[in-house]
Amino acid sequence: MVTPTEHAFRPQIQGAAGTEAASFRILIVDDDPSLRRTFPHVLARPGRIFDECGTIGEAIRCLEHEHYALILLDYRLPDATGLALLDWLVDHNRDEAVIIISGEDAIDAAIGALRRGADDYVRKPYHVAQLQRAVDGALHKGALEKANRLMSQRLKASERLHRYLVESSPDLIFTLDSAGRFTYLNPRVKALLGFDRSTLMRQPFATLVLPEDRKRIDNLLSQPGNLPGESFNVELRLRRNRLKPDGEAESITVSLTGIPMNTQEDDRRMVGLYGVARDISERKRAEEIISFQAYHDQLTHLPNRVLFKDRLELAIAQAQRRNGTLAVMFIDVDRFKLVNDTFGHAEGDALLRAIAARLSATLRRGDTLARLGGDEFTVLLPDITRPEDAEVIARKVLEAISPPIGLSKGQFRATVSVGIALFPRDGGSAEELTRHADVAMYQVKRSGKNAYRFFDPDLNTRHRDRIALENDLRNALVRNEFELHYQPQVSVVQRRIVGLEALLRWQHPVLGPISPATFVQVAEEVGLIGEISAWVLEQACAQVAEWRRAGIEAPRMSINLSAHDFHRSNIVASITECLERHALRPGQFEIEITESIMMNDTAGVTAKLHELRASGISVAIDDFGTGYSALAYLQKFPVSTLKIDRSFVRDLEGPMTNPIIAAITGIARGFELELVAEGVESEEQARALRALGCDVMQGYLFARPSRAADASAWLQCPDRLFEALESRVPLERLAGLAN
Ligand code: C2E
Ligand code: CA
Ligand code: CA
Repeated sequence: MVTPTEHAFRPQIQGAAGTEAASFRILIVDDDPSLRRTFPHVLARPGRIFDECGTIGEAIRCLEHEHYALILLDYRLPDATGLALLDWLVDHNRDEAVIIISGEDAIDAAIGALRRGADDYVRKPYHVAQLQRAVDGALHKGALEKANRLMSQRLKASERLHRYLVESSPDLIFTLDSAGRFTYLNPRVKALLGFDRSTLMRQPFATLVLPEDRKRIDNLLSQPGNLPGESFNVELRLRRNRLKPDGEAESITVSLTGIPMNTQEDDRRMVGLYGVARDISERKRAEEIISFQAYHDQLTHLPNRVLFKDRLELAIAQAQRRNGTLAVMFIDVDRFKLVNDTFGHAEGDALLRAIAARLSATLRRGDTLARLGGDEFTVLLPDITRPEDAEVIARKVLEAISPPIGLSKGQFRATVSVGIALFPRDGGSAEELTRHADVAMYQVKRSGKNAYRFFDPDLNTRHRDRIALENDLRNALVRNEFELHYQPQVSVVQRRIVGLEALLRWQHPVLGPISPATFVQVAEEVGLIGEISAWVLEQACAQVAEWRRAGIEAPRMSINLSAHDFHRSNIVASITECLERHALRPGQFEIEITESIMMNDTAGVTAKLHELRASGISVAIDDFGTGYSALAYLQKFPVSTLKIDRSFVRDLEGPMTNPIIAAITGIARGFELELVAEGVESEEQARALRALGCDVMQGYLFARPSRAADASAWLQCPDRLFEALESRVPLERLAGLAN
């Protein structure tokens, strides 16, 4: 196949242009030998080669082996007339030029010959010049014809190729006349748009274009003067010959390249348009999805952080121009992590979607609700005239969330904390407003959740401290900044250390020691508590094992667990595995939990506690009496120890006995629970506790929480601890105080 490059079209007619270097083979057919000999002399030119023969039969044999540029043919030959050879040439589709040379003066012989395809006729006797002219002329004409044939063959091949390319193109290819009507369409139109070629021919192209896009193409088509003269490219939607279920026409998006066809004389006058339309629907869809994904949250399909920031910046610019006000709300779902950890991510996601739907329904059209990630939502309220307006909406938001939300595992009551920042009062940039709304939201969380609050600049610095604390806490585990201290629980009656409570200490590299009272809640909120508890568990067990190796038998070891630990499914396994690994008896081990853990059994806390108790591990209720103190749960939960909260012990100064402690000791006796009094600081408190029947005490009066090394000392030689104690506290007298 001819390659359709430009040189294929260039006619190769060197021979015709008369370059004598081209070779021409000439056949002389004459029965007169003298003539056969003289012709080559007379007609000799560089490049001309002569063959000769005397009959038609011989001539045909030559022609069967050779192509000639020219045959000099005698009219009368021994076996037939020259006409016979002319017929043979026609029959065999030969393109040799023929000059008849004949003594025949009959004009009809000449005419007959010329009719049969001879190119010229030379009478005998011939003039040399005349013969030469005839030969030159015939050769030139033959060369021209040959070149033409070649060129038209190539054109045909090239046309075939181009037609093939056009007709089988995956693109829609068409031509329009100057009125914008189809003059050609390739078959692709059927597959792409569902129309037959024939129905579209002579129809205006514009009828295929969706009305919304028609304007864009109309200018280009109707005012050719506007065309830049070069090709143009537009994206359009073309109607398909099919309707969607809603009755609207289906469409595809194409990228259309139009090339105006101009008249030769005046290239400003357009006679038509050549167009190539490529189906880019797929790409469009992909682009739309990608851009949607780039700007929207996948779970709720709400705008994401990027889009929110964009809209907020725009709204700020507008508010600035018209001296207006706007509000940014930061909404955080309360205790969302608990839902997620307890019910699983699918339920968590369903909850977020439900909340998103309720928030959307509460807001007005011009407001932007976005999900920043996790359980954090933001709202842009662009039309706020007074802070009270934002307040009204915040109240609506809280109301909208409050009805129970149906999840697959039951109804769930969600609440949210809302922080509000106003432009221009609380910040001038999108970033600042969002951050300050976040700070305000955070204050709501601290003060009991499920409410809204405006940003207060005074809170900002505290907020910053908190962020720093969070970051440091993340590093604390890695940098090994935690340590366990141990505080003994003493039986006054037995004069013995009956337990050790492990208390966590954080040695902050800059701030020094930080109490767990400060950081445990933060650790819970940022989801670090699980790791911390695991570390405490491991450390406490390792310490007991280490003491045992050193020949010291430690008493029961208590560790503090947080409610969050019980929402992890594997807490029981983690504990038993750790005890086994360090070869500790479960009876040597106790966990301390607060009453609040038991208030809500969603995570199967009861079952987990039963498992722990069944394996021999003790369970103590910490800070007993401060929480809900529902006696019912003491029956339901397999508790082994009650720890009387320090606040009650503190009140034991003076002669007044505390009725709550009396009740607690009564409960402990009734349920056969062990009792430990916390925070015992004075002899007076110890005496009062003894009088109420409490034996085991923990507090500064006996020992402060101390490093493992100090604890080793009392464990190794408890007598020394008690002798030192004895000098301050008359233990024996206390022991005898029981009622
Ligand atoms: P808690 O479990 O009630 O621990 C007793 C707290 O009272 C400890 O404070 C202890 O140092 C302190 N204390 C002991 N005796 C006295 C006393 O005679 N007078 C006074 N005023 N205080 C006394 P600490 O170590 O600061 O711990 C505070 C709280 O942090 C603990 O309260 C506990 O709830 C929590 N916590 C401590 N360690 C851990 C831990 O490893 N994991 C978890 N989740 N929480 C822990
Ligand atoms: Ca405790
Ligand atoms: Ca306590």
